[in-house]
Amino acid sequence: MAKIVILSGAGLSAESGISTFRDSGGLWEEYDVSVVCNHDSLDINKDITIEFYNKRRSELEDKEANHAHKVIAQLKSEYPNDIAVITQNVDNLFEKAQMKSDEVIHLHGFMPEIRCRECEKVYDIGYKKLQDFNDGQCLECSADLRPNIVFFGESAPMYERLNAEISNCELFIVIGTSGEVVGVNSIAQYVTRSILNNLEPSRAIEDSLFSKVLYMKATEAIDEIAKEIDDFLE
Ligand code: NAD
Ligand code: ZN
Repeated sequence: MAKIVILSGAGLSAESGISTFRDSGGLWEEYDVSVVCNHDSLDINKDITIEFYNKRRSELEDKEANHAHKVIAQLKSEYPNDIAVITQNVDNLFEKAQMKSDEVIHLHGFMPEIRCRECEKVYDIGYKKLQDFNDGQCLECSADLRPNIVFFGESAPMYERLNAEISNCELFIVIGTSGEVVGVNSIAQYVTRSILNNLEPSRAIEDSLFSKVLYMKATEAIDEIAKEIDDFLE
């Protein structure tokens, strides 16, 4: 178990051109998230739901990891056993920063992957449309395939990994998340030291619980965060 947990959210990828949940003008505004991100979306709004994820998958192709992803990737390769990298992001920008799939824990799924609705087999389709992979059907059992994303109201098995890593955590670092989905306050209270980096205060985060608060872009905060990690592990 790692001593340091780095938990990231949409803000980490914002400077790479992927819109956050609340940004205006992004894909999220074109679609009603309650229509395309809900546990019953694939049953009652199948076509538009598949289309929404196809667009989000395709938009990743030309996006690049930013300085913050790269610094985190470098830290993880320097201190593989001391740092757990856990993200709410479903994009592949850590992977584009050369991290291996077992070095990043994706709490809410991974956009380049699709999964069988029956046998759960997972396929990596890169940036393709779901229906362009074997007509959207599982190679093993022919059942329908779906995005390998955790929809609202579905269970999120990777939260067990988060809880396990937190139980041993001494330094907790939060980057680019509003804290609306994963509650960070109780974790900050529990650990010895904690750092918060967002653009601005969030109503779901009690920033006085954090040892250090950096309200600035992730690409600007990350070098200071890296120094804290180096000092902590010395
Ligand atoms: P959010 O959109 O709710 O909050 C974004 C947070 O990032 C805000 O607190 C904001 O202050 C901060 N932020 C914005 N730009 C920043 C920057 N340049 N540097 C540092 N911080 C910045 O995001 P969330 O908490 O991750 O929740 C969104 C949910 O939607 C998650 O469940 C996630 O799975 C999903 N989502 C994922 C992506 C992605 O994969 N890139 C993008 C949008 C949404
Ligand atoms: Zn199957």
